[in-house]
Amino acid sequence: MAADAHASASGGVPGSLRPPFPPARSGYIVEVTTTPARPDVSPGTPLSLFVLGQGADPRSERGVECPGDLPPASDPALVERARRAKAALGDRLFVLGHHYQRDEVIQFADVTGDSFKLAREAAARPDAEFIVFCGVHFMAESADILTSADQRVILPDLAAGCSMADMARLSQVEDCWDTLTDAGVAGRTVPVTYMNSSADIKAFCGRHGGVVCTSSNAKSVLAWAFERGEKVLFLPDQHLGRNTAVREMGLDLADCVVFDPHRPNGGLTTEELQRATMILWKGHCSVHGRFTTQAVDDVRARVPGVQVLVHPECQHEVVLKADQVGSTEFIIKAVEKAPAGSKWAIGTDLNLVKRLAAAHPEQEIVFLEKHVCYCATMNRIDLPHLVWALENLAQGHVVNQIVVDDDTARYAREALQRMLDLPGETTKD
Ligand code: SF4
Repeated sequence: MAADAHASASGGVPGSLRPPFPPARSGYIVEVTTTPARPDVSPGTPLSLFVLGQGADPRSERGVECPGDLPPASDPALVERARRAKAALGDRLFVLGHHYQRDEVIQFADVTGDSFKLAREAAARPDAEFIVFCGVHFMAESADILTSADQRVILPDLAAGCSMADMARLSQVEDCWDTLTDAGVAGRTVPVTYMNSSADIKAFCGRHGGVVCTSSNAKSVLAWAFERGEKVLFLPDQHLGRNTAVREMGLDLADCVVFDPHRPNGGLTTEELQRATMILWKGHCSVHGRFTTQAVDDVRARVPGVQVLVHPECQHEVVLKADQVGSTEFIIKAVEKAPAGSKWAIGTDLNLVKRLAAAHPEQEIVFLEKHVCYCATMNRIDLPHLVWALENLAQGHVVNQIVVDDDTARYAREALQRMLDLPGETTKD
């Protein structure tokens, strides 16, 4: 990755562009007592979920809003500066916004979507000189891989990484492959990596006959892999791998083992590796992995008729208790096509759930779990960073460019292309 010298190592906004925002809110996850205004909850009872979009109603997010005479979250001056810089760049610029981004940022996105949809949108804009990716690092890498050499992909804050992607480093995966080789199973194993992985992990899969998957197509990708090998090494999200294999493909939990890169030989014996069908990397999403079965039980007791809708990055036990499971795009579509009066408890990033609640006041949409907060790295991209990136581009300074080296890009593209070549894949979100 080539970082422009203007970018600070911490990902902070360089220069004088830090506006007089109120101090960051703290204590998002708090035990809050309710007032008697909510009849079904006794005073003093901690709520187990957030009911969203209720304004000053005590059922709305508790302890996270700042009522009173305070500046808006998006400084109007910054909003205007972002508009001006975007207008100055015109068709040279294309801004991508992941569904988990903040409202203050998403308002400037030319297109919103999940990581794969956004990478494809970037590839479909060959005339855009600058692709500003409001998302996290691995997404910007994928956009760079799929766009032409003369297009520049910009990540407004280089600290916007992904803890899940960081759980699988190339050297660790190469050591794992050596372990599989020693156990005599590497030749029968197809590596499959989730889109949420670094470019060098995608390239590893490309080099070893493997493939990339998304949360929408994991089942068809696994079917492809099992036509080519007896076993799959699934990176880096154990939950997506397990949920797809067991819930969608009929494998048994006993067919899955977890490879822990921090233990010798992954913490597995040769016999365990030889017996396993799914070798799951010990990685997880630090947001989705925190939803609990207790939260599902709580919301069912509290909201009669509620449908629990979760992302497949959630733990297997949570997924088993849910009514519907699907990717971010699946979740959005499920809500969009639901009739008025539908009740949902959604287990995915809070920025998206809040937007869905605001866009569908005719439905009751609640956030599934009180002990889960926004994705911290997604939230690194805020309006000051976006303005900083756009104004620099408008002034001819390319900042925070994400560049994947040619060799890595070539093999990562192979793994991506194998996914794109699956029947019907080009029409999927
Ligand atoms: S929500 Fe999870 S997978 Fe997505 S960027 Fe955040 S940590 Fe990574």
